[in-house]
Amino acid sequence: MADDLSSSVLDRFNAVVGSVGLVTDQEELDPCLAEWRGLFHGRAPVLVAPANKEEAAEILSICQHERIGVVPQGGNTGLAGGAIPHSTPEFPQILISARRMNRIRDLDAANYTVTAEAGCLLSAVQAAAEEGDRLFPLSLAAEGSCQLGGNISTNAGGTNVLRYGNTRDLVMGLEVVLADGRIIDGLSGLRKDNTGYDLKQLFIGAEGTLGFITAATCKLFPRPRSVATALVAVSDPTAAIELYGEARRALGDQLNAFELIGRVAMDLVLTHIPGTSDPLSGSPDWYVLMELGSAGPDADAVLQAFLSAAIDKGRVQDGVLAQSGMQRDALWRLRHSISEAEKKAGVGIKHDISVPLSAVAQFLERAEALATRRIPDVVVVTFGHLGDGNLHFSLNLPAGTDAATLMKLWDSVSRDVHTVAAELGGSFSAEHGIGTLKRHELQRLADPVALDLMRTIKAALDPAGIMNPGKLFL
Ligand SMILES: Cc1cc2nc3c(=O)[nH]c(=O)nc-3n(C[C@H](O)[C@H](O)[C@H](O)COP(=O)(O)OP(=O)(O)OC[C@H]3O[C@@H](n4cnc5c(N)ncnc54)[C@H](O)[C@@H]3O)c2cc1C
Repeated sequence: MADDLSSSVLDRFNAVVGSVGLVTDQEELDPCLAEWRGLFHGRAPVLVAPANKEEAAEILSICQHERIGVVPQGGNTGLAGGAIPHSTPEFPQILISARRMNRIRDLDAANYTVTAEAGCLLSAVQAAAEEGDRLFPLSLAAEGSCQLGGNISTNAGGTNVLRYGNTRDLVMGLEVVLADGRIIDGLSGLRKDNTGYDLKQLFIGAEGTLGFITAATCKLFPRPRSVATALVAVSDPTAAIELYGEARRALGDQLNAFELIGRVAMDLVLTHIPGTSDPLSGSPDWYVLMELGSAGPDADAVLQAFLSAAIDKGRVQDGVLAQSGMQRDALWRLRHSISEAEKKAGVGIKHDISVPLSAVAQFLERAEALATRRIPDVVVVTFGHLGDGNLHFSLNLPAGTDAATLMKLWDSVSRDVHTVAAELGGSFSAEHGIGTLKRHELQRLADPVALDLMRTIKAALDPAGIMNPGKLFL
């Protein structure tokens, strides 16, 4: 496979990053060539890991000059195939990784900012913030493996969006190496700076198609003095949304998270994830995991009072409030393990849609009816960040379904599901991005003028088309 690249190019890479920054061993490369769910398998002759932005710039200059595709890869936890290279002898592609750029450069507690390199694990950025008595609120199940650069490039969402926003809302400045090797030094920690186009926004959510992010300055927040977490049973998604409306009214900005878990999703976790158990009795059809963070000492009391009132009104059927950090972790483990449990359960067609909250129940009703008409023995798994109108709507297929049948069904059923979301004013890609998986849907469902502008931006920043080729656009 190294045949895709001449030895002289490899020598030039070696001269820039040294052998410590080059991976050519197939066994070491293999895990980087398959997507987390095993949906995409790729090919690349080498992974290059520069130690700093200057080395990254030199690598990109060589690639632009030699017309070699450059596929940035972070923790490779993305779910749309965006980080998987597809090298060929005609158009070689390399992987570039920020894994050696993993320093926290600065934590400015007074300014409530952290400047971290793109290869930092998300959990490392969270830990650095905590050490400085601050909160970096981005949180998702893959936080122990995904990298800040990947989070920014996918504009990751996660479980705290309803209070703190998506990654886009947390990024204040970026350092980026462009396709031609120039470097934008934009690590600003300013909350106000109206000096022309806000260029960092171009790279957030661009999935590595416009440049290689090497560092970022991100917003921090005060750490809540007390946190309360509860798992409650509700009758259906409509009841969950009503509960959410009341929670927003009663708890305001203290509400960090409001997650929906359907019966089937919970059962998958209980079956496939060792050490989990359902804290509620009676096998409820739907659960909500909610969390409140308070600047005062009494989050538990506030959430307890809210839930008691909700039980009295019949909005909540049952519930449990975490009494310790361990219990809180156990509740979150139920939610965070769903993707892992789905993976263990077998093959399925995954969706990552968002709709206005007012349309969630309608979406579920219509999408489920369509899916069962097309695949009569399908098992529907529903969970997601309900507070953001973002549902992960998965269709698990009978055991033994082969990959070819899966992919054929995936295309046709997903089109239906995405069309329902679009008709309800929603998105077919709420937080996981486009990658290769949803390029056809972007082409089909995006506003044509917006798509045209996206292509114009791509052509302006990467005229040779070397940055993450074949991603986003058909
Ligand atoms: C169990 C599980 C749970 C998840 N939960 C959530 C969730 O709640 N919310 C959510 O939004 N996502 C979630 N994800 C998806 C995934 O974790 C996020 O998309 C994450 O932000 C990807 O980060 P990564 O470092 O793994 O990036 P990768 O998968 O390596 O790459 C993702 C994209 O970013 C590009 N990229 C990576 N690094 C750079 C860089 N330095 N410069 C330029 N481009 C770069 C890649 O080319 C690719 O297009 C989940 C995934 C798993 C496996």
